[in-house]
Amino acid sequence: MTEFSIPPLSANGRQEPVIALAGNPNVGKSTVFNALTGLHQHTGNWAGKTVSNAAGQCTYRGRRYTLTDIPGAYSLDAQSDDERAARDFLCFGGPDAAVIVCDASVLERNLTLALQILELTGRAVLCVNLMDEAEKKGIRVDLEALSRELGVPAVGASARSGKGLDSLMAEVEKVLEAPAAPHPVRMLPAVEEALSGLVPALEGRLSGKLPARWLALRILAEETELLERAKAFLGFPLLEDPAVSRAVWKARHYLEEQGLFGRKLRDALKAGYVLRAEEICWKAVKAPPAPMERDRRLDRIFTGKRTAGPVMLLLLAAVFWITMAGANLPSRMLSELLLGLEEPMRAGLSALGAPGWLTGLAVDGMYHILAWVVSVMLPPMAIFFPLFTLLEDFGYLPRVAFNLDRWFQKARACGRQCLTMMMGFGCNAVGVSGARIIDSPRERLLAVLTNVFVPCNGRFPTLLVLITIFFAGSGGWGSALAALMLAGVVLLGVLLTFGVSRLLSATILKGVPSAFTLELPPYRRPQVGKVIVRSLLDRTLFVLGRAAAVAAPAGLVIWGMANITVGGESLLAACAGFLDPFARVFGLDGVLLMAFILGFPANEIVLPIALMAYTSSGVLTDIGGAAQLGAVLAANGWTWVTALCAILFSLCHWPCSTTLLTVYKETKSLKWTALAFLIPTCTGFALCFAAAQIGGLFL
Ligand code: GDP
Repeated sequence: MTEFSIPPLSANGRQEPVIALAGNPNVGKSTVFNALTGLHQHTGNWAGKTVSNAAGQCTYRGRRYTLTDIPGAYSLDAQSDDERAARDFLCFGGPDAAVIVCDASVLERNLTLALQILELTGRAVLCVNLMDEAEKKGIRVDLEALSRELGVPAVGASARSGKGLDSLMAEVEKVLEAPAAPHPVRMLPAVEEALSGLVPALEGRLSGKLPARWLALRILAEETELLERAKAFLGFPLLEDPAVSRAVWKARHYLEEQGLFGRKLRDALKAGYVLRAEEICWKAVKAPPAPMERDRRLDRIFTGKRTAGPVMLLLLAAVFWITMAGANLPSRMLSELLLGLEEPMRAGLSALGAPGWLTGLAVDGMYHILAWVVSVMLPPMAIFFPLFTLLEDFGYLPRVAFNLDRWFQKARACGRQCLTMMMGFGCNAVGVSGARIIDSPRERLLAVLTNVFVPCNGRFPTLLVLITIFFAGSGGWGSALAALMLAGVVLLGVLLTFGVSRLLSATILKGVPSAFTLELPPYRRPQVGKVIVRSLLDRTLFVLGRAAAVAAPAGLVIWGMANITVGGESLLAACAGFLDPFARVFGLDGVLLMAFILGFPANEIVLPIALMAYTSSGVLTDIGGAAQLGAVLAANGWTWVTALCAILFSLCHWPCSTTLLTVYKETKSLKWTALAFLIPTCTGFALCFAAAQIGGLFL
């Protein structure tokens, strides 16, 4: 259940007006919110990404307002968690006014929700957003007629470029002074007749805390969950009041006589909003007859039966290829720059009289691993995230979810899981918390437990280096071949996700997939500049910051293990030797398994730790040229089977510490956290065992 955030008190002790930003999903609410507050709530071209309320402040003509961006909803009769959260805030969260954001291109569909909100409060402004897109499609909206019909101001806006937002706030300012009287929608005559007795009976008991007509309709529609919330909000059992229960009985009895009850009545009430929306748009919107030809053509390619699969794979491979090809040079330059600072640091510390072990710990341990992580991770992320966000902004990601939906259904999972998997490409912790977009707790758990099968950015460098050295080669077509192979590894991760989800659905998470609507948004031209800046700031630096936070302390431990000797052997080598016989059964070796264990805080340090142990250098080695690295690995007995097993184990093993912590935070259960650890780990060992046995036959 969503808790309401209490708005802060302003300096003079009075509360700032709280404005709720409501609307269907994907109409630009977050864009309006960001433009007005200067905050950066995530925007994306797909439905359902705002999963909790976000609040921010905005000042207009010297007055401060609190804006609350609530999750998108299609209706206030609340079918999903998002809709319940939105409804609860609007009904019981006490906003002083509402800004109802609509998409000008599909106004009729959006108005059903707007009409429901206007039944709650007359202190509202309709923000007809995406006017730029509507204009391009030849759709004209008569804002004056719209405002006349609805009884509240209607303002045209293109939030992405900030157009119309000033007028919007001007109307909000005015509306706050207006009476809150709601605007009812006329229902069927029989319903109106039933209401005529019920509404006055309620009015007497509600003392203005909730609009009587609105509540009367909810009572007739038997929205039990909402009525329970209303009871808690009012603080007394309204329906047990003798006068009220008599009036309810009379109204129901009358409607039953008219043949209106149960489902039929609920449908009739819904139809009331739909018909009114249609009537309003007939008066206020002029649209050309055959819209969206371009979208249909694009959909034929992106979601067509024969084309969807290959296009998806090609795009994935292209994204990897651009990421890899583009990251090489900057990675090298960054590494030279950062590692070049070590000498001056060492000199500085010794000038200060620091003992050798302290210099080792600080420079060779903490700083060195930090520099390594930054130079290996930053360039690919700085390329990958913007590319990914561009695809998201363009509207392609929900199409991938649509294409894979059938498979998710077969695995008894939810199609939206696909979107959480895509978040996992960046960072599994983000993917796990993103699973909140899935309503059913069972399906949400499936998404949480399997997210780690999508290789995150921290694992890409390892996968990539191993593919390049052992399978694709680096010259000529090498990087294209490596990109394709990497896409193949990702595909294997996707197949494992399906398989494991299906297995869980048949065992500990039994159930059938719930019905949900996956809305395909219109294709939109991405805002290249903004996307780059935002994805760099929001995603890249976030992931990097997190990685750096664990890399530095991990550097300390690793340096310690590599430099503390027991019986002439470093601790790292001793542990690796101990693990070796076990690891060999799975095609790995002790050093590599130890590296995976020490890489628990951050996956990106696995390969460097292994190299450090192989070369007994006591310092993390720069993976440098592929050939040089290949030589070190070969000298330590690596074959292509070892590389294959390392790739498989990197794809499937325990999640990193941050992800595991996120699983715990999201599930609040040690059992599910333990399973999130065990499932991929056991899968990884099983795959490696099979690969080692089969591969061994060919060596
Ligand atoms: P929300 O789900 O309602 O919060 O919608 P978002 O704010 O995430 O916006 C959905 C998509 O519409 C994003 O791709 C935005 O960039 C895009 N968008 C929002 N406002 C406008 C606008 O005025 N014009 C255009 N062309 N695109 C917009």
